[in-house]
Amino acid sequence: LFVTLEGSEGVGKSTQLRLLHSALASLGYDVLTTREPGGSPGAEDLRQLLLFGKNPLSLRAEILTHFAARADHVDQVITPALSAGQIVICDRFTDSTMAYQGYGRAHGEAAVLDFITGLQNQLGCTPDRTFLLEVPRDVARLRLAARGAPVDRYEQSDESFHARVSAGFRDIARRNTDRIRCVHTDGQSAEEVNSLIVKDILSRVPLRASQ
Ligand code: C5P
Repeated sequence: LFVTLEGSEGVGKSTQLRLLHSALASLGYDVLTTREPGGSPGAEDLRQLLLFGKNPLSLRAEILTHFAARADHVDQVITPALSAGQIVICDRFTDSTMAYQGYGRAHGEAAVLDFITGLQNQLGCTPDRTFLLEVPRDVARLRLAARGAPVDRYEQSDESFHARVSAGFRDIARRNTDRIRCVHTDGQSAEEVNSLIVKDILSRVPLRASQ
């Protein structure tokens, strides 16, 4: 089973990734957690370029570099893990490219969304289930400030960019209701969010002998 977590920065994806790993592993499942951009050695190199490279890339070059990283990650890590029967949980995937590059950078221009959809079809590895984590932007901003993490190129972008990204994610979710489940992470604890996601995942995998 291939599961992805999506959403803007500060919505709680990395916390959920960690909690999901321990919850599923303690139930006896073989789980691999990974992230994008990155997730394989070569793709982590490309992540550095994408997030901290000295020179801005053109939009198409940026999209293609995300897909170059993704192809390496899929070929070297995700596909082998799925073939070995592992549950793979990935922090971000193609929905992020749609939201950030398609809706954020390209303002939802149809030709750009089609370009990304075409690349995804060529890639041929689609999540079985996606959780879109959402919090109001002011809550996310407070969390990011508290984290004090180094600010990458995208986090520096202005508020209207982030508003387009969030609206983009909601639009993507509306178009993919079979695959994407929206989860509001404010107003409930990380553990509550986790148990909701775990239940959803368990309904999609065979029971373990130990259960
Ligand atoms: O998930 P994480 O916060 O580590 O993502 C790293 C950065 O990459 C974020 O700032 C995110 O906005 C950005 N990103 C992007 N386009 C993607 C994937 C991630 O701009 N396709």
